[in-house]
Amino acid sequence: MSKIDWLAQEIDGLKEQGLYNRIRTIGSAQGARLIVDGQDVLNFCSNNYLGLANHPKLVEAAKEATKKFGVGPAAVRTIAGTTDLHVELEKRLATFKGAEDVITFQSGFTANLGAISALVGKEDVIFSDRLNHASIIDGCRLSGAKIAAYEHNDAGALEDAIKEHATSFRRALIITDGVFSMDGDIAPLPDLVEVAKKYDILIMVDDAHGEGVLGKGGRGIVDHFGLHGQVDIEVGTMSKAFGVVGGIVAGNKVIVEWLRQRGRPFLFSSAVTAPDAAACLAAVDLLEESTELVDKLWDNAKYFKTEMKKLGFDTGVSETPITPVILGEAPLAQQFSRELFDEGVFAMSIGFPTVAKGKARIRVMISASHDRDDLGQGLEAFARVGKRLGVIQ
Ligand SMILES: *Cc1c(COP(=O)(O)O)cnc(C)c1O
Repeated sequence: MSKIDWLAQEIDGLKEQGLYNRIRTIGSAQGARLIVDGQDVLNFCSNNYLGLANHPKLVEAAKEATKKFGVGPAAVRTIAGTTDLHVELEKRLATFKGAEDVITFQSGFTANLGAISALVGKEDVIFSDRLNHASIIDGCRLSGAKIAAYEHNDAGALEDAIKEHATSFRRALIITDGVFSMDGDIAPLPDLVEVAKKYDILIMVDDAHGEGVLGKGGRGIVDHFGLHGQVDIEVGTMSKAFGVVGGIVAGNKVIVEWLRQRGRPFLFSSAVTAPDAAACLAAVDLLEESTELVDKLWDNAKYFKTEMKKLGFDTGVSETPITPVILGEAPLAQQFSRELFDEGVFAMSIGFPTVAKGKARIRVMISASHDRDDLGQGLEAFARVGKRLGVIQ
């Protein structure tokens, strides 16, 4: 017996249950089509909602920044300074989102870790939606605060949880995903904000899948519901619709100022590079210039979801371009994904622990980079595989 035999057994277990992740290798830029494991396929996987990941303006901006600043940040911002591009990006994002101030992090994941653990501690309680993203859950654990999970998207359950814990904490924080990434449903933010106001509790929303998707020209969930100034902390990412990489915390300027002092990933880990920041700035330019890409994204999403329902697929409760195709057991979802790939469509299966057991699915990510022919090809492949595997008639 070796010290790591248990790992080999765990890995075998994952393979038997259809939960072992086999990561495919990409050999091209992101777009409607991709070279995956050497094969030209339709891309239904990426969070590149607006097709910006390989947009000529973003690529050009990154090239120019590379010429001026090189490729690496060389040290953390608090110690070695920060480029004017990073400073400008934070200003532009604050204006874009209608927030008082913005601080950027390396990723959405570190934005959640940094923000949550800087705002609450051991004497405090966090009220967290039961289906919140892993980075929120980890941020909550890291903070040491008591975690009270409430029923998904249920403002009444949130209020009950607050009443239950009312006497037992110093400070509190309510946290919800804006768009839930596995089902594509939207948090009832106006109701949650009302509860937060009633009990005078800080409220934070993670808008990773709403950034560039919801609201006017992609300004996010707070704009979508017209709640400017009423949500204390808005986390986001520039790795999805923005097509680049990086995390955002937008909100009250005192909170942002505090995070510049105490947001640990900001203090102890290097920032995104200057070319990343320049590409993000180009993304903000494009979003401010026109709503064309956001409109096309929604057009495509509505068309695809309607047609999938007509074919008889269960696409769940999605209200956004995220299109889950719920299949049930993980091995079926994996087989479905493999057969789609053979049909020239790249759409990965998702199983436990990312989604509940028995709710394994293919998640289709619709993008503004798709045209109607792409969507037609995808629908035909889904119809063929769905019939072959007995999922639809
Ligand atoms: C993707 C995602 C993140 C992480 O964003 P990265 O920038 O990729 O680290 C955080 N929260 C939610 C809800 C997400 O969907």
